[in-house]
Amino acid sequence: MTGQGSVLVRGGVVVPMTAPGTFLEADVLLRDGLVSAIGQGLKEDGARILDARNALVLPGFVQAHVHVVQSLARHRAEGLPLLRWLSERIWPYEAALSPQEVRAAAHLGIAELLAGGTTAALDMGTTHDQGLVFGAAQDLGIRLTSGKCHLDVGAGVPPALLEDRDASLAEAEELGSRWHGSCGGRLRYAAAPRFILSCSTRLLAGAVELARRNGYLLHTHASENADETRAVRERTGMGNVAALARAGLAGHDVVLAHCVHLDDAEMDLLAQRGTAVAHCPGANLKLGSGIANLPGLLAAGVRVGLGADGPPCNNRLSIFHEMALAGTIHNLTRGPGAVDPWTVLEMATWRGADVLGLDRVGRLEPGWKADLVVLSLSSWAMEPAAGPAAMVVYGGGVESVRHVIVDGTVVVSDGELTTADGAAIRREARHAADAVSRRLGWA
Ligand SMILES: [Zn+2]
Repeated sequence: MTGQGSVLVRGGVVVPMTAPGTFLEADVLLRDGLVSAIGQGLKEDGARILDARNALVLPGFVQAHVHVVQSLARHRAEGLPLLRWLSERIWPYEAALSPQEVRAAAHLGIAELLAGGTTAALDMGTTHDQGLVFGAAQDLGIRLTSGKCHLDVGAGVPPALLEDRDASLAEAEELGSRWHGSCGGRLRYAAAPRFILSCSTRLLAGAVELARRNGYLLHTHASENADETRAVRERTGMGNVAALARAGLAGHDVVLAHCVHLDDAEMDLLAQRGTAVAHCPGANLKLGSGIANLPGLLAAGVRVGLGADGPPCNNRLSIFHEMALAGTIHNLTRGPGAVDPWTVLEMATWRGADVLGLDRVGRLEPGWKADLVVLSLSSWAMEPAAGPAAMVVYGGGVESVRHVIVDGTVVVSDGELTTADGAAIRREARHAADAVSRRLGWA
């Protein structure tokens, strides 16, 4: 599914994300998967017309860390800190998933992302059936960078998830050769060692080698929780970010989720090497992990995007929830205005796209990819209309999403998913969640 033909998004207020404070009343013409023109009174014979009156038109939102495969465990892994949440609920759940359940989880997660205005995401899968996640992304139309996760050691990991290192890396290579760059570049592969505590040194080295040889992103978790960070220090004698850098996981092609518990040297290391951070405030609050020093990361020049993380640790995949948190929780330590709403909106658009290494994504400019969201101003919290950044970051919600376009294709129209049967996705997800819950003795 590539963006064929033309779409004219007419009558909205365009927030192109080219500079803080910039917005204009304009139409947006999309042609062959790219933004063709932005201006008033645009016309195009044969173009599909999308109504953007009483609405904002923004680049599609980008999330830098999600796990769509965990969607069936949503609302079923409550009240636990990270390491117990993983070993008692999430790893047994992932180990138990059948191929059909992986597919149902991926459909649910991706449908939620698209319906909520997220057009691109960096996703981490489980150890098995990752091709079905890519298949779901192919069908539903999201711009997805994803990869199977790798784990070969560690406490609390069910035997069914523990992998043979060479077989795990070979499977990733096969997945990458099938999916990286497919659907006109909309789907990309990312090598995804789970986190240091579940990866041998040789597995980490193998993942780095695989990624660098093929041009894949490297995606892992780091310093989410104090116990995890302490365990990494005991095992490696250094902080998580430093230990990952020693293993080769540092640089512009590396995305570290969380980075809540860092020392000053690690903060400098992230900035010096260009390593990116996925800030996940919703998940960090839910699991009681802590609050990352986002103002400090930004001031140090670290590349930062936003992510909802997994449905069972949030419990939603809403970029609006993450934006509202990123724009408010840091006021607790730095005072009101700690992170201004334009910067938050940048993290949810072009900064996030930069974290994912996406070319010409995250802004609305001629020649950039036609990934776009139309946000209705009809919800009560959007009134009275004022500056768009504050409205979207503090007053916006998934209920505001009217239309969504990815790669020139309309994937959500008037709030409804157009690329799949939403009712069928919900039905299959409920059935699959009940089945896996029963097998795990959760029901
Ligand atoms: Zn995660």
